[in-house]
Amino acid sequence: MNSTMIKKTNRIKGNKEDRPLWFPMFTQGKAFMKKRFIPLFLIFGLAIASSTASGLALRSAGALDDAQAVLEFLIERNESYVSSGKNEGDISQARREDTATNGQSPYAVIVTCSDSRVSPEHIFGAGIGELFVIRTAGNVIDDFSLGSVEYGAEHLRARVVLVMGHTGCGAVEAALSGGAHGYIKTITDEISSGFSEGLSAEQAEVLNVINGMEKIRESELMKSLEANGSVVIQGALYDTFSGFVEYVDE
Ligand SMILES: [Zn+2]
Repeated sequence: MNSTMIKKTNRIKGNKEDRPLWFPMFTQGKAFMKKRFIPLFLIFGLAIASSTASGLALRSAGALDDAQAVLEFLIERNESYVSSGKNEGDISQARREDTATNGQSPYAVIVTCSDSRVSPEHIFGAGIGELFVIRTAGNVIDDFSLGSVEYGAEHLRARVVLVMGHTGCGAVEAALSGGAHGYIKTITDEISSGFSEGLSAEQAEVLNVINGMEKIRESELMKSLEANGSVVIQGALYDTFSGFVEYVDE
């Protein structure tokens, strides 16, 4: 994915087109991340107005069959989550019955960390049946989680696979310090295999996201789904302090 697509993704509908979005944060090899600033009046105004539609209703109507639309929607819902301070997703009995009877049709696969501060349904204001979530410490990807990604993308036809790391990730910090033992070491070894020494925590967190995306592309199925445009594999970093999600550019 190129930077033009990323910028397009993060333009929110209506007057948000004009807001200042990103600045280059750092460069590590081919990887760099861009950060966005969001004017407060947008956070407390327009973001809410455009984020009230149910994700499942939009999915049913076909509005979230396009990957770019899903990426925009996720950002809208994230902004709504930050401004409202709560998850406004539908967890009603009616939604339970609907999804139990008619099955699930999540619009995104989220691969993220098990960290208790990083709950995708809250972060993206999602209700029942909207997100297909895979969580491991450090969002490392093994065969089981890769099979789950394939299932979400191919069988459930989610259009986006979002690999989302986060600030202050203990697994990444352990990988940087090299102090893990037991099965935890299998996680930190996997993380540290993707970067060299001397990185800041944030650089390592972003590189770990990109390594996860590359791991997903080792799946022939995912590689072909991405190549034919059926799915977009996108990286992101969640800020555990501010609550905002930032897309990572490869
Ligand atoms: Zn973590």
